[in-house]
Amino acid sequence: MSEKNEIKLDPWGRPDIKDYSRLYDLFGIRPFNEVIDRMKKDNIELSPFIKRGIIFGHRDFDSKILKAIENKEKVAAMTGFMPSGRFHFGHMMTGLELIYFQKLGFKIFVGLADAEAYAVRHLPRKDLIRIGIEEYVANLIALGLDPKETEFYFQTNRKGSYHSLIQLFSSKITFNELEAIYGDITPGKIVSALTQAADILHPQLPEYGEYKHVVVPVGADQDPHLRLTRDLADRFKGDLDLEPPASIYHRLIRGLDGGKMSSSKPDVTIFLTDPIDQAKKKFMSSLTGGRNTAEEQRRLGGEPEKCPVYDLYLYHLVPDDVELTDIYKRCKSGSMLCGECKLFGSARLEKFLTEHQKKLEKAKDIAWSIVEIPKI
Ligand code: SF4
Repeated sequence: MSEKNEIKLDPWGRPDIKDYSRLYDLFGIRPFNEVIDRMKKDNIELSPFIKRGIIFGHRDFDSKILKAIENKEKVAAMTGFMPSGRFHFGHMMTGLELIYFQKLGFKIFVGLADAEAYAVRHLPRKDLIRIGIEEYVANLIALGLDPKETEFYFQTNRKGSYHSLIQLFSSKITFNELEAIYGDITPGKIVSALTQAADILHPQLPEYGEYKHVVVPVGADQDPHLRLTRDLADRFKGDLDLEPPASIYHRLIRGLDGGKMSSSKPDVTIFLTDPIDQAKKKFMSSLTGGRNTAEEQRRLGGEPEKCPVYDLYLYHLVPDDVELTDIYKRCKSGSMLCGECKLFGSARLEKFLTEHQKKLEKAKDIAWSIVEIPKI
């Protein structure tokens, strides 16, 4: 097995990454820890995801983004969502990162990857558009993303030179290079990959605001898109004058079976639109890091590092650090068993979803009114 095949990052697959630190050596992602002191020195508030080590890596976040902030230059954050399934706690992670950057004063771009969803997931266009609006845009607004300061767009509907970029990019990349980055590749995936590169780079063009310093917050599995985009930006130097983007990477939250949380696995994924009873039922059936028997767990303690329930606390349901530490210690010491722990989590989940779903109804109307709907 070649070294890079040890961990295969497939943006359309379900990577199983056991040791994120291997990505530093294998793909050249840098540890995020190395930029934290500079952020503190610049008085930039650290997000909970940074403090909790969920954001583990970056490319050029210091040399491009922190430098731009220090020089008081304008900055943007850009990411995309493929509207092929419902919005879940994994998507929420990226949404909260956008909200964090928005509060720091970044311009936000959100691409709805309907072209990619059509090519890769083969869903009817009408469904993709409704999912894009009612699941992605509406949930992001309900979570707190300010629609007035965000550009949401569907890939097939972006006006202007965005599409020219895709055509130009296709002239400077070979099939073999794409295969080396992505593994199995199809015509649909090639167009999707080049479109993603246009998504990431087009905010730099004058007609979209000329944001030269763009950070892309993504899950570790999306790094192939960043590598391709950075290469393409370099290849057009002196011609299109595009800067390679910066990126930050988060650990992927696990599904309730311990695998990747995914819209295609609804039994082990909690969606933000799940009826509350259904969400709680799924949560209560989750795999845990508990031992085989209560006696064993009292004696050896649980393993929160392996526990999808603990993931939900760490990422979303327990924002208070003191409370989270208490849960961790009680789990590790065996003084709390999984049944008690899940009852606590189930109540937390109910509270969060009840409040969120109230905001969501209003957010749906806003979402339909602010995003231009593709004509075909
Ligand atoms: S006690 Fe809670 S955190 Fe610990 S393994 Fe059980 S469910 Fe997970």
